[in-house]
Amino acid sequence: MNRGNDRRYGAGLARATGALALGALLVSGAPLLSAISRVDQELAARLRGHIEILASDDFDGREPGTDGEAKTLRYLGKQWFDIGLVSGTNDPGHEWFAPVTLVAREPDSSAARFLRKGARTTVSPPGVLVLTSGKRSLVRNVPMLFLGKARGRDFTRTELAGRVAVVLDGDTPDGERQNDLLALGASAVLTVLDGDRSLDQVAARRKRTGYALSDDALGGDLEAFITREAMASLLKGTSRSLDGLEQAAAKADFVPVTLDITASLEATTRETTIRTHNLIGKLPGKRPESGAVLFLAHWDHFGECGEAPAEDVICNGAIDNASGVAALTEVARRLARGQQLDRDIYFLATTGEELGLLGAHAFAENPPLPPGQIVAAFNIDSIAIAPRGTPFAIVGRGMTALDGEIAKVAKAERFKLRANDDANEYVRRQDGWALIQHDIPAVMVTTAYGDMDRMRTFFEGDYHRPSDDLAHMARPLELGGAVDDGVDGSRSPAEADCLG
Ligand SMILES: [Zn+2]
Repeated sequence: MNRGNDRRYGAGLARATGALALGALLVSGAPLLSAISRVDQELAARLRGHIEILASDDFDGREPGTDGEAKTLRYLGKQWFDIGLVSGTNDPGHEWFAPVTLVAREPDSSAARFLRKGARTTVSPPGVLVLTSGKRSLVRNVPMLFLGKARGRDFTRTELAGRVAVVLDGDTPDGERQNDLLALGASAVLTVLDGDRSLDQVAARRKRTGYALSDDALGGDLEAFITREAMASLLKGTSRSLDGLEQAAAKADFVPVTLDITASLEATTRETTIRTHNLIGKLPGKRPESGAVLFLAHWDHFGECGEAPAEDVICNGAIDNASGVAALTEVARRLARGQQLDRDIYFLATTGEELGLLGAHAFAENPPLPPGQIVAAFNIDSIAIAPRGTPFAIVGRGMTALDGEIAKVAKAERFKLRANDDANEYVRRQDGWALIQHDIPAVMVTTAYGDMDRMRTFFEGDYHRPSDDLAHMARPLELGGAVDDGVDGSRSPAEADCLG
C-alpha cells in the first residue's frame, strides 16, 4: 500500500485536494487553505484540543483509580453534558459513572518442594517459580507426569487427574495449553523453560496481566515454571534424565512418562482493589423500542510506566486512546446537533481496557439496557494513525451480521472499504471483543486499520511507551483518518448505519 497521496478514494479531486491540504496543515501548522471544509478544520481542531488535554502530563497517564481517572472523567462528563447527552447508566444512584471494581493480584510467595521416590528428604531447588490466579493455592506430594510439549495428542482425565503435568516450553502460549490441562483435571502445570525466557520475565509478565473483575478473581489455578538446570538436577538419581525425556518426547510414538518424583507446590498473591468507573451517556431516540446503538472508546491508560531514570515516565496515551475518546465525544456532538434519531444512542467510555478489556466486560455483564437491544456497537481505539482518504477496514469483519449494512453505507457514501480480514489480527485486543463474547455485535470501522503498515509502525514504536504523547511522538499527530472515521462532513459508515 502506498502512503499519503492516494487519490483513488474519497469524493473526487476536490476531496483529495482537501485531504492533502489538511495533511499539510496538520504537519506544518501552516495557514488554512480555502480547499479544506470549515467543518473539517473545526473537527480536527476539536480532536486535537481534547487530545492535548487528556494526554497532558496533568492527567498523569489516566490510570484507573488515580487522580488521573478523576480528571479524565470530570473532563469527559462535562463535555458530554454540555453537548446535551443525558446519563446512560440507568442508575439514579450513580448518574453518569458506573462503578467497576478491579482486583489486582500480584505474586507474593512461591514455594516448591520435591520428594524423590525412595528418598526421605524433600529438596527445594532454586530456579522454580509457582504462581496462582487465586489468593492461595497448594498441592501436596502429587505425582509428576511428563507430557513433552503436550501437543498433537488428546489427553484424558484419567491420565491427568491428580497429577502435576510437566511440559516442555513450546510454541503454544502458556495460557491456552495450561488451561486445557487444568480443565482436564491436572492439579498443576509445571513448565520447563527452554532458556528463551527467564523466571524473572515470567514473573514480570504476570504482574501486568494479573487484573480481573472482582467477581471472577477467586479461581486458584496453580502454574509453576522451572529452569532447565533445576529440572536436570531434580531428575538426578531417578531413572530418567532431562535429555532422555526430551528425546523421547520428540518421537512420534511418545507416551507420557510418570516421573519418580512427587511435588508440593504453593503460591499466594497480594490483593489490591481498584475502584474505577465506566462513563455512560445517552442520546434518547424517538422510538427506543427499535433498538439501541452503542459507541465506545476506552479512556484508561497506564499511568506512569516508563523506567526511571528516563526523563519522561508518563505513558500519556495520546493515540491510545485519547484519540478514541476525542472522536467518541465529537460523534456525540454531531449526532446531538442533528435531528432526533429513532434509536437510543449510547456513548460509553470504558475503564480497564489496558488491563484486559475489563470495563467493557463489566458493561456487558451489567448493562444499563437489555443487551439484546443493542443492534450495533462501534468501538473507537487508537485512530490517529492514517491520513485522509485511507480505505476503511472492519476489525471484526465476518464476526457479526453488520458487514452487509456497513458495505451498503460505504458504497452510498463513496468510502472505500477493505475487502479482506487482515485487520482481524487485532480483534481480540480491543473492547469490541469483550462485547462479542457477550453476543453484542461489535466492530471497529476505521481508517486506522486500513493501512496495516501504518498500524504496525505504531505498534512497534510509540505504542504503550511514554513517547505516545504530543511532545515526543515519532511523527506529528495524524488526524486526517480520524476526521474521516467518525465525524466528517459526509456520513461515515459507522454513523450512517445508526440512522438506518
Ligand atoms: Zn493500549
